[in-house]
Amino acid sequence: MSVSSTPSQSPTRSIQSEWFLVISSLLLVTAILSIVAFLLIRERGNAQESATRAASNIVQLIDADVLRNVELYDLTLQGLIAASRRDDLKAVSPTIRHLALFDRSTAVPYKGDILLLDAQANVIADSASVQPRNGNYADREYFQSHVNNPDLGMFISRPFRSRHAGHEWRISFSRRLSGEQGEFLGVAEAAMRLSYFDQLFSSLNIGRNSSVNLISKDGILLAQEPRLMDELVGKDFSNRPNFQRIVREGDGSFTGISSLTHDERLYTFSKVGDLPLIVIVAQSSNEVFASWRRTAIVVSLATLALCISLLWLTWLLCRELRLRRQAEKELAQLATTDGLTGVANRRMLDQTLRHEWFRAQRSGEPLSVMMIDADHFKAFNDRHGHQAGDQALRELARVVVSNVRRPADLVARYGGEEFSVILADTNVAGARQIAEHIRAAVEQMPKVEGAEVTMTVSIGISTWTAASEMTLEQLLFAADKALYQAKEGGRNRVVATD
Ligand code: GH3
Ligand code: MG
Ligand code: MG
Repeated sequence: MSVSSTPSQSPTRSIQSEWFLVISSLLLVTAILSIVAFLLIRERGNAQESATRAASNIVQLIDADVLRNVELYDLTLQGLIAASRRDDLKAVSPTIRHLALFDRSTAVPYKGDILLLDAQANVIADSASVQPRNGNYADREYFQSHVNNPDLGMFISRPFRSRHAGHEWRISFSRRLSGEQGEFLGVAEAAMRLSYFDQLFSSLNIGRNSSVNLISKDGILLAQEPRLMDELVGKDFSNRPNFQRIVREGDGSFTGISSLTHDERLYTFSKVGDLPLIVIVAQSSNEVFASWRRTAIVVSLATLALCISLLWLTWLLCRELRLRRQAEKELAQLATTDGLTGVANRRMLDQTLRHEWFRAQRSGEPLSVMMIDADHFKAFNDRHGHQAGDQALRELARVVVSNVRRPADLVARYGGEEFSVILADTNVAGARQIAEHIRAAVEQMPKVEGAEVTMTVSIGISTWTAASEMTLEQLLFAADKALYQAKEGGRNRVVATD
């Protein structure tokens, strides 16, 4: 049984708006998050790029300085060889000869010993003293290399620890002394102290947790500035994965976890000219991305706040829409409901009746209308008062509704103490049966407090069938007439016409 069912477009539109709102704000939030994430990732890339560029500049600076000094060492060796070939120098005093031999070596920085060796690797000239030291260097790698290879040019040794003077790290440069026919006459050798790199690196400012490192191709750390830990210099790093990758790649940069400090570092590295040395600038990721991280935190928090506000506003709006829909629904119900009894009102009755009438015309199915009127209700009112009368009407409505069960049927208050029931697809026999149930149920209704008589109703039924040629007005009139006959017949009864 329906008491109100005004079809309305507005709830559907409102639900659509709600969905639209939810989907749009979700899309908006996704778009905002994607854009911010994209920008932050790009900014991180930029931070890494500029750190790499700065580190590359440092590496190149070191490279240029080292190459210039290597050139100076080479010139020193060539000068030594040229001077040793001059016959006129053999005639001068040892002091003058010493001065002439090592004339060019004054320019080289951080020099260690500069020696001239004969074909048997005995020292024949020594930068350290006019009287050459007693020593034989035949076992040295550079000596053997020059013996075996006349076209070696300048040979650069692997880093080694000096046999004296504090065992500091050195690297040696050497050239072959060849005769007229290219025969081996000896070797000129100059050593450079690697503390040169300490001095070079200390002039660079690359951040507190970052370091510039010089490492030999064999993986021995030769210099580090600033020193991350004590006693690292001289340590073998050849089996560390980061070092192996650096050796493999030669030049470049990558991010990796330091096996020393166990934090993430950005490594930028390059080979130092033709030397068996590699310069590595290891920057702490924390430092490289510190400024980016601060920006990222502020931007992320602001974006998060923005997205939450947006979603919250959407939720508020949706809630408002829902409340409005609810209010509209209640209003629509009120507009079609009788205030006293809660069944459909006269307006709804007229609307439904017209609707069902046309539907019956189309389908040809019978349509029954029932008019129910409380008997002697004026007297009841007069005796018990209007409030008791109202209560009795509410009870009556409830009994009628409980006997009309099909959803398409409608119970409405026609006016005063009269009710109408529209029974779609119901023939006169069906309508009569329902009416009888209603009449009997009203009779069984408990008496209102203080009342002497039970309440009864008279019911008139009229039914439209495809065979009849009634209009809607005639159908209603016929129902009224049937009700009148029921009253005339003594009340508390059902009369049907078709
Ligand atoms: P009958 O058996 O011929 O129908 O007699 P009746 O007294 O019921 O008929 P009548 O039309 O003379 O009186 C109807 C009465 O119903 C009048 C009024 O006192 C009462 N009535 C109508 N509407 C209401 C209402 O909303 N509340 C109350 N309490 N009484 C109402
Ligand atoms: Mg009446
Ligand atoms: Mg009456």
